Amino acid sequence: MEIVGAVLEQSGAEPPFAASAPLSVCRLQLDTPGAGEILVRIEVAGVCHSDLSVVDGNRVRPTPLLLGHEAAGIVEMLGEGTGDLAVGGLAVGGLAVGDRVVMTFLPRCGACAGCATGGRLPCEVGSAANTAGTLLGGGIRLHRDGQPVSHHLGVSAFATHAVVNRASVVRVDRDIPAEVAALLGCAVLTGGGAVLNSAKPAPGETVMVVGLGGVGMAAVLVALSLGNHVIGVDGVEQKLATARDLGVTETYTPQQLLDAGVRAPVVIEAAGNARAFETALAATALGGRTVTVGLPAPDARATISPLLLTAEARTIIGSYLGSALPSRDIPLFAELWREGRLPVEKLISRHIRLEQLNEAMDALAEGRELRQLIVFGPETANPDTTESETTGPETAGPAAEKKENG
Ligand SMILES: [Zn+2]
Ligand SMILES: [Zn+2]
Repeated sequence: MEIVGAVLEQSGAEPPFAASAPLSVCRLQLDTPGAGEILVRIEVAGVCHSDLSVVDGNRVRPTPLLLGHEAAGIVEMLGEGTGDLAVGGLAVGGLAVGDRVVMTFLPRCGACAGCATGGRLPCEVGSAANTAGTLLGGGIRLHRDGQPVSHHLGVSAFATHAVVNRASVVRVDRDIPAEVAALLGCAVLTGGGAVLNSAKPAPGETVMVVGLGGVGMAAVLVALSLGNHVIGVDGVEQKLATARDLGVTETYTPQQLLDAGVRAPVVIEAAGNARAFETALAATALGGRTVTVGLPAPDARATISPLLLTAEARTIIGSYLGSALPSRDIPLFAELWREGRLPVEKLISRHIRLEQLNEAMDALAEGRELRQLIVFGPETANPDTTESETTGPETAGPAAEKKENG
């Protein structure tokens, strides 16, 4: 079938991306799903820092690449075996046409050494497929003018439709709105996973989050949902104000934090740079643990005092992608949302169209937006009937009136 999507032609473009325009919206051919794969009509896709990292060249992926990995959609077609209760050794439950699914960027084969760690390490097969720009099974289902276009993290969600492996989705009930479901797949899974799976705060323990972007704010929301006292730290005053809107009662800039000598038993670094890691370490209390979930540049280096680690009986925990098991964690976060304890929609700061993605990357890079969502209108189900309208209306959906808060 023919779809419309945003293709990254080349990595490493110069900012501002609104001018260098590394992403172009175009028509592509999407193959029918193979064995173990499904066709999904994308409802909502979020713009995440991991997308930006491929655009700016910090993460090397094959191009041309159909970007996007944080999304939710409706199953439109099932490949062979995807309605069965177990696929490829994974007891993940069957899918039906019409199901709402959350896309996850961490497909699991269920059989490798990484898959045997309960989520602490990613799947080796899935990671290799993500690096190669293929689906979990090794195939490429996207073409443009007869040439293959790589998949992004097994998802490629900046498009009207996607073919993905069954292991790249988690089914959610239809009462979970698409905008909420999309965020569960990346921001909440990563930031929330750092709290739930890595930090594991005891009841009443204070959780400090350093770096209040999408992932950091998700960590804040999940820690609040667990009833923990939360301290927010960021260099941007606007983000501290947003954190206070979410219910954080104690906020600091890094300088204010160090000057005041405030420390916490659990500190989560979600900024992805070495200075933030040092701030997080300095703010970790005696006997405490520093959890790092940010992804700094490969050559970034931080200074730490080994003596402090020993003398203060401290622990540093690396939380790669939230040490998440999507099939276990997403239903849990969905239930927290349903109970009104995890207001994920508060992370949404703006709705955009597919054509605004280059500018959206600038907004993300400059820290102006928390989560920008593309909402695909139902009319895009058949791109042949929408010559001039490649995405839904700019502010489709009930959250359209939401004030920009990022
Ligand atoms: Zn992401
Ligand atoms: Zn695996």
